[in-house]
Amino acid sequence: MSKRWDLVVVGAGPAGCTLATLVKKHEPKRRVLILEKCPGPRHHIGESLLPGIVPILKEMGVFEKIDSAGFPRKIGANYVWGRGREVWENDFNDVNVKEMIERRGGIPEKIEYAWQVRRSLYDEILLRHAQENGVEVLRGTAALEPIEKAGRVVGLRARGAAGERVLSCEFLADCSGQSGFLSRFKKVREYNPELKNVAAYAYFQGAPWKYSYNGHPDKTKIFICSTGCGWFWYIPIAKDIVSVGLVTSQAHLKSTGLTPEDLFQKELARCAEVAPLLARARRIEDFDGSGQSFFTVNDWSYLNVSASGPGWLAAGDAAVFVDPILSSGVTLAHLGAHRAAYTLLTQWSRSSAPQRAGLWRDYDLFCRESAEQFLALALFWYGNDRRAEKWWGRAKELQKAWLPVEMSDHLAFVTVSAGLTRFYERAFTAAGLASERALRPKDLPFYVSVLGESGALEESAARAYADSDRPRLLFPFVEEVVYFPAPGGARLQPAKRVRFVKRDPKIGLNDALNPRLVVTRYHLQLLGLIDGARTAGEVFERAAKLGVPAWWLEGPARSFLTELSIQGVLSAVPSKPALAGKGA
Ligand SMILES: Cc1cc2nc3c(=O)[nH]c(=O)nc-3n(C[C@H](O)[C@H](O)[C@H](O)COP(=O)(O)OP(=O)(O)OC[C@H]3O[C@@H](n4cnc5c(N)ncnc54)[C@H](O)[C@@H]3O)c2cc1C
Repeated sequence: MSKRWDLVVVGAGPAGCTLATLVKKHEPKRRVLILEKCPGPRHHIGESLLPGIVPILKEMGVFEKIDSAGFPRKIGANYVWGRGREVWENDFNDVNVKEMIERRGGIPEKIEYAWQVRRSLYDEILLRHAQENGVEVLRGTAALEPIEKAGRVVGLRARGAAGERVLSCEFLADCSGQSGFLSRFKKVREYNPELKNVAAYAYFQGAPWKYSYNGHPDKTKIFICSTGCGWFWYIPIAKDIVSVGLVTSQAHLKSTGLTPEDLFQKELARCAEVAPLLARARRIEDFDGSGQSFFTVNDWSYLNVSASGPGWLAAGDAAVFVDPILSSGVTLAHLGAHRAAYTLLTQWSRSSAPQRAGLWRDYDLFCRESAEQFLALALFWYGNDRRAEKWWGRAKELQKAWLPVEMSDHLAFVTVSAGLTRFYERAFTAAGLASERALRPKDLPFYVSVLGESGALEESAARAYADSDRPRLLFPFVEEVVYFPAPGGARLQPAKRVRFVKRDPKIGLNDALNPRLVVTRYHLQLLGLIDGARTAGEVFERAAKLGVPAWWLEGPARSFLTELSIQGVLSAVPSKPALAGKGA
């Protein structure tokens, strides 16, 4: 082994590029290498993205490149599902639009959106961006097997055009997608017995690809439509190119005795919603230089029992995959890799073995929990053939478990299905912490003073904050806050219910009900507990004395404390905080 890398990443998909770029960005002296088995841009499924990835793309510095690449902008998803065939409209921003219309009339200037992408181009932009940031890249080189010494991964064997070679590294990251190069060696993958599906898909030209939306003709949506044996996706991925796929269970496909392509054609012919859209369209031959005009892919949901170990980690599909019904895969890949980057950066800065172990335990937990919300909704989705309200209600249950804010069932669904889970908020917070250095200990008293002695927001302080050049964690203005009761003398306590209203014209109405901002309000309250504390244990102890409820410590508080820990503001956070009243 000649050269030693600090980090070797296997796979140049969204997960691999995110991890490599962020590590290099924050520690430019580190030697980071991506290995990608394909020699050039390659076809991939996973085309409908969620707004939850936006803060990560911004932090990577690649947002503008993606946004200006000409991908159709996605503002939501429409569904026809179950027995009723009415269309369920879901717009990422519909509540805000409604408010805008009611209060001022007109259309908001800015809409939360993601994109529908041709993955060969999307992933190529990410990879080139990683290279521009100093990441080295070996294309056309496949990882063959890890090399271990005394139970620790210390390198790998790889094969490229020039033959086989050995690469030595301090850390090996498996971002190889479903093939799970390292996860398979480690035998850590567990499949979900209820979600063993298969997808058959193709690309069409000459089909409608625009969805005209309240004066935003440049925006599009995806369309999801159930059939007798599964569901179709209809995703415009470029001007005049639509991706259409059928998802069905592996067992059903087998029972029909048909090829995936024949089943696709048969179901398409009887799908009253999708068939007319393709009536004048033609299937694209040799899509993306793949030599194929029709594709099939396994769609089995799984989770690694462990996403890290001595000298290695897995991120993205290599660690976890959840059925595509909610378009969550790329979001989970960016999110998991973002988390992996911070965990790695932090472990490099810590000398204590228990602290390092705690960080990786937290990473494992993060991978598991970040998939849970999507998995819970996917399982519910497949298990039911009822009215839309049932799905909205289920999403509300999931949302309430981590964010006890008043919102309609429908908005809760839009929130979850936009990828705005508490993990999105974690990423947002970490981005703020890392890129803007918002939360150094010396900054903390400022945040506390914003809240004031009574725990109520002091508007003048808030306004000063909003006008300052500090990171804008406190955009919204609070209309109503209902606090949990706190013992006498307590300065701060978590809010039970928070309602925001946007008053500052500079901010724009769009963010008024943005859940991520609601969560940062909790963070501000938490900072009151953190002020002067050195360890997370101390914070929990104070919280317990104040009678802070368990759900808050388990959810918003824990995720934020973990961010602070990762940034070195506090020492490691226990994976399960002490519950209220029980001490730390
Ligand atoms: C039917 C279906 C539909 C989907 N639809 C959506 C959707 O609409 N929206 C969404 O967000 N997600 C969707 N997904 C999920 C999405 O495809 C993945 O979650 C996403 O691509 C994961 O990104 P990644 O970076 O982890 O892995 P990948 O994108 O798979 O990248 C892994 C890379 O590793 C490389 N590689 C593999 N093995 C090796 C090796 N041994 N050595 C070197 N390189 C290697 C591969 O060539 C590849 O470039 C869908 C998935 C399926 C199955």
